[in-house]
Amino acid sequence: MKTLKFKLYEHKRNKYLKRSINVAGVIYNHCIALHKRYYRMFGKHLNCAKLQSHIAKLRKRNSFWQSVGSQAVQDICQRIEKAYQLFFKHNKKGVRPPGFKKVKKYKSFTLKQAGYKFLGGNRVKIGSRVYQFWKSREIEGTVKTLTIKRTPLGELFMVLVVDDGGIPEVEIKTGKIAGFDFGLKTFLTCSDGTKIESPQFFKQSLNAIKKASKQHSKKLKASSNRERARKNLVRKHEDISNCRRDWFWNLAHELTDKFDILCFETLNLKGMQRLWGRKISDLAFGEFLQILEWVAKKKNKLVVFINQWYPSSKTCASCGHVLEELDLSMREWRCPYCQSVNARDENASQVIEMVGASTIGLGDVSRATPAIAV
Ligand SMILES: [Zn+2]
Repeated sequence: MKTLKFKLYEHKRNKYLKRSINVAGVIYNHCIALHKRYYRMFGKHLNCAKLQSHIAKLRKRNSFWQSVGSQAVQDICQRIEKAYQLFFKHNKKGVRPPGFKKVKKYKSFTLKQAGYKFLGGNRVKIGSRVYQFWKSREIEGTVKTLTIKRTPLGELFMVLVVDDGGIPEVEIKTGKIAGFDFGLKTFLTCSDGTKIESPQFFKQSLNAIKKASKQHSKKLKASSNRERARKNLVRKHEDISNCRRDWFWNLAHELTDKFDILCFETLNLKGMQRLWGRKISDLAFGEFLQILEWVAKKKNKLVVFINQWYPSSKTCASCGHVLEELDLSMREWRCPYCQSVNARDENASQVIEMVGASTIGLGDVSRATPAIAV
């Protein structure tokens, strides 16, 4: 599965899509209200199928609601259901049930199999109207879902989830495999010993954001000055993410030139965020991995993921001994079994490489690090 994002051309017609997003927001809030009322009256959870059929009936009688596709309406119900299931499962950990959202801030609607059609070139028919988009890349594979997103600046994007079939053949060019460990200060530690530091401009631009957000909060609510400050703040945010994305693309090309197979741990972003605070979202590891996977596929390279729960930091890369415990603050440790001294991040990246190699059935690739019994 792959996610592709395209910007829609500015056009008068786009107001219909924006209206659909607003209507989706209204329907969303209506669903939330129904959930709450149902719970008050019957003391139990309103099930998704019931909600869907009720909302579908309402939609038939309401021409305003009909400006969003029936599939988008189903999607809203399913999303709310997912949010509730998460809440039921994790409410002890502080997850809140889904709540009302401001329609103005409501961001998107999603269509599954129906309600849109690609007309070739850069034209797509959504509902009964045709829109054009910047076709920055080919759409390969089957489109699973189509989402129209509205940014805080009011621009529209089309996001496609595409099924691109199985794992590609790896073309052996460099004959090299490497493992990588993400970190806060050092963005990536590579198993060949190199370190890729987080660029300084992330920090600098963060200061710019702080300033802009202060300006914004000082302005009078609902004033035109505040709206201008809000746009300024949003633009600063977009500047940063553009810089970052550029850097990610360059890095992805650099790494895929150097290695044929790249191994990573799957990310547990929620957990990392709790552990490290908001910084993690600035680094956006997830975004980098998406870009890397895209570049790797284009160049017939392979990105391998190992389970995030694999004790990569606690396993000795030299002998395979697994420690009982390793405190986060320990940057270095001595293996009690083989006495080798392991730097935390380097050791982890080497273990990730070895486990990655074994999961794709590469018993003995030419590696600097010795094999371990997993
Ligand atoms: Zn050891």
